[in-house]
Amino acid sequence: MSVVEHSASELLELLARGDASSVEITQAYLDRIATDDKQIGAFLHVDPDAALKQAADVDRRRKAGKQIGKLAGLPVAVKDVLCDSDTLTTCASQMLKSFRAPYNSTVVAKLKAADAVLIGRTNMDEFAMGGSTENSSFQLTRNPWDRDRVPGGSSGGAAACVAAGMAPLSVGTDTGGSIRQPAGLCGVVGMKPTYGRVSRFGLVAFASSLDQVGPLSRSTKDAALLLETLAGHDPQDATSLDTEVPRYTASIDQPLEGLRLGIVREHFAEGLDKEVEAAVREAIKVYESLGATVKEISLPHSKYAVATYYVIAPSEASSNLARYDGVHYGHRTDRAALLEELAAERKQLEAAGDQAALDALDSSLVRMYRKSRSEGFGSEVKRRIMLGAYALSAGYYDAYYLKALKVRRLIRQDFDAAFEEVDLIAGPVTAQPAFKIGEMADDPLAMYLVDLYTVSANLAGLPGISIPCGFSKSGLPIGLQLQARPLAEETLFRGARMFEQATDWHQRRPGADSRAKKH
Ligand code: GLN
Repeated sequence: MSVVEHSASELLELLARGDASSVEITQAYLDRIATDDKQIGAFLHVDPDAALKQAADVDRRRKAGKQIGKLAGLPVAVKDVLCDSDTLTTCASQMLKSFRAPYNSTVVAKLKAADAVLIGRTNMDEFAMGGSTENSSFQLTRNPWDRDRVPGGSSGGAAACVAAGMAPLSVGTDTGGSIRQPAGLCGVVGMKPTYGRVSRFGLVAFASSLDQVGPLSRSTKDAALLLETLAGHDPQDATSLDTEVPRYTASIDQPLEGLRLGIVREHFAEGLDKEVEAAVREAIKVYESLGATVKEISLPHSKYAVATYYVIAPSEASSNLARYDGVHYGHRTDRAALLEELAAERKQLEAAGDQAALDALDSSLVRMYRKSRSEGFGSEVKRRIMLGAYALSAGYYDAYYLKALKVRRLIRQDFDAAFEEVDLIAGPVTAQPAFKIGEMADDPLAMYLVDLYTVSANLAGLPGISIPCGFSKSGLPIGLQLQARPLAEETLFRGARMFEQATDWHQRRPGADSRAKKH
């Protein structure tokens, strides 16, 4: 079996037994990246020399009997939104195309402390805004199961690299579904922890009250392993939770006895693809066969979740993205061209004797902000800034932003009531399997509706996981979403693992056929 077919836990065992070195493992992944990523486009930057150097260093320390970290020698890919002072952090935006962070995010610092080999930076929708990775301003990422289709987003590169065997583990972020949705569409495991479980320090902010960092992997066990490495209190993030992190991997193999599984009535409404519905219903039957009791529940406010999210997330984004003005941060427009342009306009207005227009002409400073931002941001990011600025503006704040906050509370209360009766909620991750590249590019509303089943967990701050539960007739992966009470990650992992042990969906890989398909 080739090294790149192993799970992260298996690789750690090989390393511990001395049956493989980190250099060998890292080289095997780098080779796979070299052959396959030209087609997939999961990575934005890979530095083979740096990765191999890190790997050799871990091998040396292991041989010398020195103390080594929990993920020692294991390659891990990181979404290009988490600051790493050793490389660029671009957020797939022209705005940050040459940004080198002066410090590490806590997540990256923890990976480094655990001696993981940081194998590359993965592609994403610009500033994590999107659900297909088509909003990356650098490149497309293709779904390894069908290269004419999107991998989902915004952590599309993170999901695709794991699905295609280009990394055993990766780190993504989820503001409205960006870990779970691409995991579902690429047939891998993706987990969004409770809000506050993983530090956001050094995560480039999209919507600060919703953003969470989490793992993508080939098995729930690997996701648990990565989460227990990343989670924990961080005084540098004021919203970080000060509660102990359980050892998820220690309990994950214990099935949940007497599991009460909730099925949301509103999830099985219009718009849900037949094959997705069939796979999810089949998964629920598997739980029943494992002794779970299934109960239908209602989340009556879930129908407002997408609308609520698309007021709150853009509002926070418009505020977070104000810092990219070409002065504090980010791309700055060309100075000479700007001054020339202003001078030419002034001349023209003077010739026309248009004093009013001359008085209204931008100062060079204002023009510099405007041009820098126009050039640096892509169209979806601009759309979010405008939506958010509108929702927050005087006169509309109460009608939109404040109202959205109130609905958010109602959505959370629905979950609180549901979790009185059930331990986990099961349902689809998305209404459809992966869609075609370009299919929704001109229809932002259709793209927003893809988040139907995932945004509620972010609004309510709950943990959620996407695990493979089947395939469409055309061979596209289908995901099952499980959600749990805040901080019940342990229950979530155990519940997901029960399913994984009873099925083999997570073991399927995109075949040689789709690997060979040329574009
Ligand atoms: N698709 C959602 C959006 O575009 C979610 C993105 C995310 O979770 N980062 O906002």
